Amino acid sequence: MALDLTAIEAVAFDMDGVLWRADQVLPGVPALFEFLQGEGIPYAFVTNNSTRRVEAYVERLRGLGIPARPEQVITSAVATADYISRRYAPETPVYIIGEDGIRSALAERGFREDARNAQLVVVGLDFAVTFEKFKTATLLIRSGADFIGTNGDRTFPTPEGLVPGNGALLALLQTATDVKPVVVGKPEPVMFEVALQRLGSVAERTLMVGDRIETDIAGALRAGWRAALVLTGTTTREQALADGRAEAIFDSLATLQSAWEAARR
Ligand SMILES: [Mg+2]
Repeated sequence: MALDLTAIEAVAFDMDGVLWRADQVLPGVPALFEFLQGEGIPYAFVTNNSTRRVEAYVERLRGLGIPARPEQVITSAVATADYISRRYAPETPVYIIGEDGIRSALAERGFREDARNAQLVVVGLDFAVTFEKFKTATLLIRSGADFIGTNGDRTFPTPEGLVPGNGALLALLQTATDVKPVVVGKPEPVMFEVALQRLGSVAERTLMVGDRIETDIAGALRAGWRAALVLTGTTTREQALADGRAEAIFDSLATLQSAWEAARR
């Protein structure tokens, strides 16, 4: 099915490889957002990164000239906190492995950390993870605590190269406990459900714009969304065509905007 842009009523953007790459802003930013605002099309930003606070993203987006409010930024930490607050009472004691992003998202919803009595183990990427933390998490999960991961990315990109991502931390705990975690981030459906709620939209009229087929595109299509791949990030046109899952491929946000404007004329 070809992508019909006239049917799209809301849109979610992956950030790295779509809006920017390292320190470089990508073509079509911020003009696309002027277009979306002019057309009254709501938008949000989604990222599997659970380490940073929403405010850090809002600041970066605004710095690039993209109008952004905190509720439009959905990190896997925020989506995890949304997911947990819909299923557990706010007093539920939790044990957290992770950085400030997931800690602040859970604290804002009233969850308190209690390593002794935790009924819930939440694991996000933690740059200071230790054997002691893995031990505590393992013992809690083995005694029946629920096990939730912010995202399953196997690697995390750094200037030095790819280092272990949260999926690697989850794999260690899964091996130690024989328990499979509930994972929230893309390509899992939870992240897309949270984004739909924030956008006030329905799946079949919502577009995901991303640069990774495995997470952004496959996850969106599985959730019933429409999807557009941009070639400004990790995927080349050759790879996209060989893979075959991307229903619409654009060189950049600028070409997506041209196609969208032409479709609405
Ligand atoms: Mg990306």
